[in-house]
Amino acid sequence: VTLTVGLVQFTAELSWVRQRFGGRGRRGTAAPPPTSWTIFPYAAGLLQTYVERHAADPTRFRFAPPVHVREPLDVILARLDGCDVVGFSSYVWNERFSLAVAAAVKARAPRTIVVFGGPQVPDDPTAWLDAHPMVDLTVHGEGEAAFLALVQALADGAPLDGVPSLAFRAAGAIRRTPRAPRITDLDTIPSPYLSGAFDALLAERPHDRWALLWETNRGCPFSCTFCDWGSATASKVHRFAMDRLLAELDWFAERQGEFIFCCDANFGLLPRDLDLARAAAATKARHGGYPRTLSVQNTKNAVERAFEIQRVLSAAGMNGGVTLALQSLDPATLSAIRRDNISAAAFRTLQHRFRAEGIPTYTDIILGLPGESLASYAAGIDALVADGQHDRVQFYNCAMLPNAEMAAPAYRAAHGLQVVPQALIGAHTPVGDRPVTEVMDIVVATGTMPAADWVRAKVLTWAVEILYFDRVLHLPLAVLATRGGVPLSTAVDALLTPAADRPVLSALGARLAERARAVQAGAPEPVALPEALGVWWAVDQWALITLARAFQLEALWLEAAPVLAALASTGLAPVVRDAVALNAALFAQPFEVEDAALAFAHDPWGAYAAALVGAPPPGDRATRGTVVRTRPAWVRWEDWYEHLTFCHNQKAAYLWPWIPAPAEAEVAA
Ligand code: SF4
Repeated sequence: VTLTVGLVQFTAELSWVRQRFGGRGRRGTAAPPPTSWTIFPYAAGLLQTYVERHAADPTRFRFAPPVHVREPLDVILARLDGCDVVGFSSYVWNERFSLAVAAAVKARAPRTIVVFGGPQVPDDPTAWLDAHPMVDLTVHGEGEAAFLALVQALADGAPLDGVPSLAFRAAGAIRRTPRAPRITDLDTIPSPYLSGAFDALLAERPHDRWALLWETNRGCPFSCTFCDWGSATASKVHRFAMDRLLAELDWFAERQGEFIFCCDANFGLLPRDLDLARAAAATKARHGGYPRTLSVQNTKNAVERAFEIQRVLSAAGMNGGVTLALQSLDPATLSAIRRDNISAAAFRTLQHRFRAEGIPTYTDIILGLPGESLASYAAGIDALVADGQHDRVQFYNCAMLPNAEMAAPAYRAAHGLQVVPQALIGAHTPVGDRPVTEVMDIVVATGTMPAADWVRAKVLTWAVEILYFDRVLHLPLAVLATRGGVPLSTAVDALLTPAADRPVLSALGARLAERARAVQAGAPEPVALPEALGVWWAVDQWALITLARAFQLEALWLEAAPVLAALASTGLAPVVRDAVALNAALFAQPFEVEDAALAFAHDPWGAYAAALVGAPPPGDRATRGTVVRTRPAWVRWEDWYEHLTFCHNQKAAYLWPWIPAPAEAEVAA
């Protein structure tokens, strides 16, 4: 029998790419996006090319072009029309939509065999298959060899018991076959890019901006309990050959691909990763600036190599954001999640070295991990800032992935993990009808962080984002944290403590608490604002827009100054007051169309700049300078909102530039 095979992989939302490059419109303009961002459906391509290379008679298999865009259902069904087998690659961002398509495929053509694989399919699929009768078979773990064996068996009419890594219904029960061993020689898997699996997609969408998933190795030697890296955690790392990887870079550059996301769990773990980064930079130089960016997940432990890699990428203008992932700084939590971070001293040194090179970094922190308490969570944020993370922290809710150790009932019970399903909606995605909303279980209380403490921790998280990382009070809080010894969480708590003479800050705290309780009950994290570009906004930016639209930011700074000055020593208090005033002037808002010359009795900018690099504070002196408010300036709210979408991941852009005037002595000299 000859089989027609359809492969479906709905790729992730690309809001993180849009935030870096524009695409919701360009920075500072309200122009509609000229093109869409599209990720190549890499997993689907791998399955296709593996079958085409290794099938005993490849002519027995015809592949429809992979389906990867969330088009209307009738369009998708037309693309899959006539397929004997349809395979879905399922992960947290596409499971429900994939199931909806699968149900429609089955309803239209009941004889079509529907197969699901990918990390979202539970290792024990019994209950999952019961809940989803439209799915005939599930494939578990690494997919290529199992999928080949499956389609061979279907084409031959052979029994499925001989196919590895499979689960299916038989005689009223679920039958499971033993897992295939992992593929150790990855070069037996042809590159879908080089073998032409995506040529039809490129031809069909010539105006799209493409993002390439680049897999240089598979496996992760670590075993964090919250993680399910495609069932490849706690495993040996196997690698693809260098010449194939270099050819993929050229392939992408020749097609003017802009963004490469490296799928490796730990880029920098292998010595050759530095060579790969250099090769990517050389490719960009050879191909007129393509690819523009290579985004990698830095390995935790090979610190020196990770630093060199980022230097190479930064020098080539390819840096997609340097992650220094920690997830938690609490030893009990790290032990509970089986994770071993770099030391605080190493983190501090690394931060200062990146800052000295002018390379921004960000750190991942997860709220709701087992073992974490409100106090340890707050202390972790404080330590992070004290150790030099002033650029950005990417805060996540603790998510329950089906095959992660954390999802096991015994583990959940041992740590008192309570979860709610939460709609997965990306920041800056359009408000409006969604045919299907994806859902993810998030932890909203634990044995060490009861529900009320989770709400307080969530409020702290958002307040830290708004007031510190979004730069609303970045200058004084940095000075207080580093020079004044006032932990960031202490200062933020003081600011949000309700008080009659602080109506704006008090209302902000109340708004965040109300939102946190809603999220704890299962509301989506972002907030829909049809009136602000018609998109969903992350809570920090929603709060900012709310403050700005009510013209309350000036009042916020007036309320904050005495609170923060009261936390400082007598000598530091005047500098902190000046830092609040300078911060207020620097915070980029719409309707400012002239630069502003300012004078201070102290040196708030010098104190802030020293705080960022851990240098001794400057001597006390009067200072002057200019806020450059005109590059850019916004005279419409919509234009400023567009700017905010850019700021989401580029936090420094929240502030206008400050040009300090030379000191009088320097002028005299
Ligand atoms: S979080 Fe990263 S380091 Fe930990 S197991 Fe997952 S991939 Fe490996």
